[in-house]
Amino acid sequence: MLMTKKRLTKIVFLILLIMTALILMPSIFCAKKHLDKKTNHEKVMEIINDSHSSTAEYIIDESQKIDNMISTGSYYDADLGLLYEHAGSLYKELGEEMTYYRYLGYALYYLEQSEEKDYTVNLYLNLANLHINNHSYTDAEEMLNRASDVEKIEDITNPKIKSYAYRVLALYESETNNCKQAASYLVKSQECLKDVEKDFSTDTDILINKILLAKIYQRQGNFDKSNEILEECKSSIPERTNDPTLLRDVVIPYYQTKCLLIVNDKNTTQEEAMTEIDNLLDACKEHGYEKVALDTLIAISKELPSYDVSDIRTIEKDIAELSDSIISYQDKTYSSIINSQVTDSSLSMAKSVEFTKNTQKRTMLTILAIVITILIILFFIIIILSTRRDGLTFLYNRRTFNFDIERIKRSSMPYSVIMMDIDNFKTINDTYGHPEGDKVLQKLGQFINNETNSDIKGYRYGGEEFAIILSKNSYTKTMEVAESLRRNMEASRWPFDSDLVITISLGVASGSSVTDVVKKADENLYFSKHNGKNQICTD
Ligand code: GH3
Ligand code: MG
Ligand code: MG
Repeated sequence: MLMTKKRLTKIVFLILLIMTALILMPSIFCAKKHLDKKTNHEKVMEIINDSHSSTAEYIIDESQKIDNMISTGSYYDADLGLLYEHAGSLYKELGEEMTYYRYLGYALYYLEQSEEKDYTVNLYLNLANLHINNHSYTDAEEMLNRASDVEKIEDITNPKIKSYAYRVLALYESETNNCKQAASYLVKSQECLKDVEKDFSTDTDILINKILLAKIYQRQGNFDKSNEILEECKSSIPERTNDPTLLRDVVIPYYQTKCLLIVNDKNTTQEEAMTEIDNLLDACKEHGYEKVALDTLIAISKELPSYDVSDIRTIEKDIAELSDSIISYQDKTYSSIINSQVTDSSLSMAKSVEFTKNTQKRTMLTILAIVITILIILFFIIIILSTRRDGLTFLYNRRTFNFDIERIKRSSMPYSVIMMDIDNFKTINDTYGHPEGDKVLQKLGQFINNETNSDIKGYRYGGEEFAIILSKNSYTKTMEVAESLRRNMEASRWPFDSDLVITISLGVASGSSVTDVVKKADENLYFSKHNGKNQICTD
């Protein structure tokens, strides 16, 4: 294959282009991912803030849509966390509670790595709250620790989440019989809400805190204060609600505390006490909080004055203790299942992300290996070519000429050689300088290059001397090629002197293995020079 300077430049350029593409590919990939993440952020916000109608069909569609989005798009860690949490809550609405906790684990994995610290803490607080309500204090403690690992309470920026954090701590302390500490946390929780703009949810937070404080006072034996708070809250207790937070943190604890206060009051008649107990039972039964009712009854039967005969009370006590242990065992088991679901899914997400990262790393290494291999190959190609070609004209050099002549001689095929030399080149160098002289050499190099094909090869023989070997079918075209070169050179115009005419002298010879064609061509070149230059001499 004929390798001209142009073609070689093209190949080198192409290889460099491929290499640049390979090197840039990861960056382009990253940039595209970043752009996708930015666009997807809007979509995520839309989905999260969508106040949907909660028909089962809609929820199924929406949760599947989100699952699909997660598996096909690129998202910021925070957005992925929010999406998983949102999808999880949809599954929870469908009654798939364990799926919710699995998704919560995924959400926490991503949120922990994001800047959404407050939101992450909020999720851990929700879990801690759930464990406290299930009497599973070790799990609750673990969640509280994780929350504080993400962000210390003092550093939480959102005042409502900060208030919630203090409230959950208060709840934890009150349930683990540290009422004094619980009360002090509640004060802090209320303080955080002072500067928050008043709305329904802030009012609810304040109400939850008040009822919890009433509950704590009741536990401490400060019944008057407890009663006072409950009276204050009475008008705010909704008659009917489906809001699980309102039920769990306002309605049920309100009736529970009220009930415990009433039965403790020595002035209360048994009838009044029973009415309050019935109120609690009704509220609990209606909303599935039977365990709280049973809890309260147990507390009444164990700790508060009895309205029954003492021997019945003994049996009652046994039953109470038994059910107490069953309930707490069940709740703790449930809590620990939830805990392991959240932790396991978070870990499995970590593993799958690690696997993806490793695969990406391996791909990067493969690309790097390919780039290095191409570089090495390119390096060798350049080395090999540079030993065969002349650097100024990019024609083959004298070394290649000698090699080709030996080979063609061995083949015994007829061939021709054109030897040429620029006329008065020394004067050109002396008059216009070497750089301009180089341009003349390059121009003649181009003319020779234009004549070359698979049977015609051009060489820079040395200095301002050039040669051409013509073989096979092109052998007969020798005089044509020589004349074309002579004419082209004579007709050339030079930018450094528009009147200047530069000519070449040529010597042509033909033969095969026995004749020394090069020597004859050289002799003919000599004749051309002595005959007046700018001409071709042949045998
Ligand atoms: P003639 O017509 O008899 O060939 O005369 P001439 O001046 O061309 O011949 P001579 O051999 O005296 O001069 C050749 C000059 O070519 C001498 C040298 O400086 C110059 N030369 C050789 N290689 C290069 C090169 O790579 N670049 C430049 N600019 N000049 C070169
Ligand atoms: Mg010369
Ligand atoms: Mg010369």
